[in-house]
Amino acid sequence: MATNIFNCPLPDEKGYFGEYGGAFIPPELQTIMDEITASYEEIRQDPEFLEELADLYQHYVGRPSPIFHAKHLSEKYGADIYLKREDLNHTGAHKINHCLGEALLAKKMGKKKIIAETGAGQHGVALATAAALVGLECDIYMGEVDMAKEHPNVVRMHILGANVIPATHGRRTLKEAVDTAFENYLKDPVTQLYAIGSVVGPHPFPRMVRDFQSIVGVEAREQFQLMTGKLPDNLVACVGGGSNAMGLFTAFIDDESVAMHGVEPAGRSLDIPGENAATITLGKPGVMHGFKSYMLQDENGEPQEVYSVASGLDYPSVGPQHAYLKDLGRVNYGSINDKEAIDAFFELSREEGIIPAIESAHAVAYALKLAQEPDVGTILVNLSGRGDKDIDFVVENYGKDYGIPQD
Ligand SMILES: *Cc1c(COP(=O)(O)O)cnc(C)c1O
Repeated sequence: MATNIFNCPLPDEKGYFGEYGGAFIPPELQTIMDEITASYEEIRQDPEFLEELADLYQHYVGRPSPIFHAKHLSEKYGADIYLKREDLNHTGAHKINHCLGEALLAKKMGKKKIIAETGAGQHGVALATAAALVGLECDIYMGEVDMAKEHPNVVRMHILGANVIPATHGRRTLKEAVDTAFENYLKDPVTQLYAIGSVVGPHPFPRMVRDFQSIVGVEAREQFQLMTGKLPDNLVACVGGGSNAMGLFTAFIDDESVAMHGVEPAGRSLDIPGENAATITLGKPGVMHGFKSYMLQDENGEPQEVYSVASGLDYPSVGPQHAYLKDLGRVNYGSINDKEAIDAFFELSREEGIIPAIESAHAVAYALKLAQEPDVGTILVNLSGRGDKDIDFVVENYGKDYGIPQD
């Protein structure tokens, strides 16, 4: 690998970014997390592992993903807008970057099976893909309601050889999928590895997932300088758990001239609890899902119900490094609502011929607003995924407003 992407100073050895992060888990799980941490420490310095991962990034994922200068949007909105094309990766999003890393780690640790929960099925499909390639069994836990809603992704996982295990209690969505996955993980944490899908969860996952994703920023920093002779003035990325944003930001953190913007989902309303998932914008520090960060809580201190038109962004907490960067003031966190995201979804499709994931459309919408401010300079947007998964939903719910014939 041209640059060693795995040498960030934070977190500390206990997994803290300032006061955020750590591991708030039962003792029996701590032993397992310690083993994962130790194995990760080993592989991240192992030239053979790094070589293997770099080779897969190039020949399997199709890295480096290009940077594209969106000239029509630039002209129309008044600043030069560039897109880092993670939508062109195999499986259509950035998630494959960390799923491959986690699958390779599981293999090196002698695990037989890799497991995870999934909401809309995007993490499930990326992990099932990595498991097929690396040669591991794969169990994906998914709420029954989500399975019906996201049927094509369930079929994809089956074709890839994964087991999709329904969560049948409660509201039968993501939270119940997490419960079921966790219960089964605790029954056999020795032969299985739980592959967390973003820069969240107990240490070492926020660090490990960030490290695997940081290839995005390492490539972008070099590519952008080759294209323009300078660093970008602004970086923009959507923030659900925060992995694609940390992937882009990490390589630029020490570049003081580069402003960074994280974009949260304002959903239908920022004023009504449960109608958004703007965790940093509206949340407070607290502990949830094994780590400390900003979180949205209800009056009982339980995770708040959250909502966004982008199912990849509706998480009531956020990666601990984002909480840290927020307090430091190094990253600006803003929000984009459903309507603005859908507008940007069509705008990018029609101006540049690129259909983005609705998650990524939040970052595009933010960039279009930023571009209209005076003297903003250049803007590099992380286009985290492609929109094929979203087209039926968008046309059914919004097509009429955008001139799409209804049958
Ligand atoms: C899952 C997903 C996200 C949100 O996850 P992060 O960890 O915040 O990056 C964003 N974009 C796409 C396309 C996704 O699939």
